[in-house]
Amino acid sequence: MDRSKPTTAIPEPWSINTWQSKSIAQPIIYEDEDKLSKTLVQLAALPDLVPTQEIDQLCETLLFAARGQMFVVQGGDCAEAFHEITRPIVSGKRELLVAQAKTLSEGLGKPIIPIGRIAGQYSKPRSNCYETLSCGSRVNSYRGDNVNGPEKSERDPNPERLCVGYHLAAATLSMLRAESGQPRTEIERFTLPSSGVFTSHEALHLPLESTMTRFGYNTSAHMLWIGERTRQLDGGHVEYLRGVKNPVGVKLGPTTNPSDLIEMLDKLNPRGTVGKIILITRMGAKNVEDKLPALIREIKKSNHVPVWLCDPCHGNTVSTPSKVKTRIVEQMLEELKLTHLIHAENDSQLGGIHIEQTGEADVTECLDSYSQDLSQAQFPEYRTLCDPRLSKSQAMFLIREYVQF
Ligand code: PEP
Ligand code: MN
Repeated sequence: MDRSKPTTAIPEPWSINTWQSKSIAQPIIYEDEDKLSKTLVQLAALPDLVPTQEIDQLCETLLFAARGQMFVVQGGDCAEAFHEITRPIVSGKRELLVAQAKTLSEGLGKPIIPIGRIAGQYSKPRSNCYETLSCGSRVNSYRGDNVNGPEKSERDPNPERLCVGYHLAAATLSMLRAESGQPRTEIERFTLPSSGVFTSHEALHLPLESTMTRFGYNTSAHMLWIGERTRQLDGGHVEYLRGVKNPVGVKLGPTTNPSDLIEMLDKLNPRGTVGKIILITRMGAKNVEDKLPALIREIKKSNHVPVWLCDPCHGNTVSTPSKVKTRIVEQMLEELKLTHLIHAENDSQLGGIHIEQTGEADVTECLDSYSQDLSQAQFPEYRTLCDPRLSKSQAMFLIREYVQF
């Protein structure tokens, strides 16, 4: 395609339901569809969780990150657990993001845009539909607390959980707002939302996401993303997200094809609005040098100016011989540094970092270095319901090492 000419194709009409005619990856199958419909009717009548002005504010702020003048730190659980929505745990997550933003701001000399994987990160894609529990039973995989529960008896998707999720997201936001205090500087007044940190989650559950969409805004979070498993060009997730006014993230793994990427951005952001799209690369330390340069070059040839984030988590997950999923901080740091250098070499800029982390100090889910023997590793406080998270000190370490690099 000749990219120097403006595209003349008129996009197909979009509504909050056009995704329904597309194929849906990672669907959630409810036995009682009537109950799902009734739940969605209830949710549709409930207030917005985030103000639409703050969604616009994030769009405006991300423009600066796309131009290299600001930097994003996006972090939080792989899957937020309902039972962990407590005062100390929510506080800890907010404080960690604020501390990371402070270190980054001092180290990089730029204002920071903090975004939590928080107040709605309750729906998960999974590689396998089923899993075998240690007791030998084969059950539906855990798909996030919005869908089903981790216990054996809770594995059937239950629509009522969506209402619980809505109210817990509202409670989380309420607490974030109460603790966020007054913005200290002129820049913060311009860039930060009432909750102190912006909120985000994976837009996996399309019946829920479309229900929460009003006047083109997904009012359940400031930012939404599509995952590595749901970014099919003709799929329902891209179809849904191409119509929303929120900033949209796209996870990109090592199999991403450069020309498909441009086609996707033409769909998600046909006007080429700067900063509307956040590309979150998660190549794995061993693939990044091989795979990332072609994507950056293809973007530079196009008329798109995204914000590039590095997710050094999802390409570096390893399992111990006893099948505990973990990550090695040293390897994550390697991907982060390589990603930074590859951008610089290709006349591009890394615009932020995306991490799975918890504000809790005692969690033991990730290992510090390669020198630890995987077969001997102990994980006494392994509490995640999904992927392993960096502890508070590991998460701060990663950020400090990055700014000193
Ligand atoms: C995630 O962010 O938890 C996730 C599932 O990531 P990805 O889509 O990149 O695998
Ligand atoms: Mn994850």
